[in-house]
Amino acid sequence: MNSLRAFVFDVDNTLTPPRRRLEPEMAEVLKNLPVTFHVAAGSDLALVQEQLVEPLQAAGYRGSFDAFVCNGSDRYRFELDGQTRLTSLRSFNLRNHLGASAFQTLMNTLENILNDPTFAIDAPGVRVFGEQIIDRGSMVNFAPIGRPKQMNPEAFANRDAFVVFDERTGYRHRILEHLRTALHGVIRDGGLRITFGGQTSFDIVIEGNDKTFPLRTLTEEGFTDLTYFGDALFEGGNDAAVLQFIAEHQEDQRLRVRAIQVAGWRDTLDQLLDLVQ
Ligand SMILES: [Mg+2]
Repeated sequence: MNSLRAFVFDVDNTLTPPRRRLEPEMAEVLKNLPVTFHVAAGSDLALVQEQLVEPLQAAGYRGSFDAFVCNGSDRYRFELDGQTRLTSLRSFNLRNHLGASAFQTLMNTLENILNDPTFAIDAPGVRVFGEQIIDRGSMVNFAPIGRPKQMNPEAFANRDAFVVFDERTGYRHRILEHLRTALHGVIRDGGLRITFGGQTSFDIVIEGNDKTFPLRTLTEEGFTDLTYFGDALFEGGNDAAVLQFIAEHQEDQRLRVRAIQVAGWRDTLDQLLDLVQ
């Protein structure tokens, strides 16, 4: 049987450095990749365009790929031929899925954390920039230090200081535990799933409308050999749902699907070159 092969990449910290644009070296590799690829990003469309699509266009990439954004639930097709053409293929709505009352419970729980002194960020120099609760339609991103609209040196320094604080104190672990307890009912009845989002925030999604969605969709569309690359395949990470998909399809003889944990974009580059050479 002929296999139809594709690579699926997480974007932030897998193809790009955290919250930064694609490096020219990676753009060159993607331009010459002999395997079809698609991306499954934690972030929204605007960030994927800025971090990935614009640098690819500038590097002379020509071709088409799908971007499953907002943790995989919203699907867009990009066609780059000097111009960038964008088509929306699927969108999901978390609020509609949960219903107004459960959605309000979620919002109130997040607000309460921001107002709770026991969850204050007790680190000198760390400040809040931008929105802290971001409703992206298909998912909610919760960022205790906020998401600045524009990244600048001050915002990057703030982010770095938070990452050090978080690693030292287990701050996000403590919030994750609290959220999973406080939202137990919505998790059970609505399929709500909460994971770490990148290095500073949380991604709140609905089961199946996460990074398993691109894998399921590509499988249904005939792909039989899928390799997923992600930096957050660990428990609580926003790529971890992929492992669940793999476990569920282990017995399926027609499908070969695996996941590769990477330590950052350079590691992805190395592992990718090993695979295709
Ligand atoms: Mg990532």
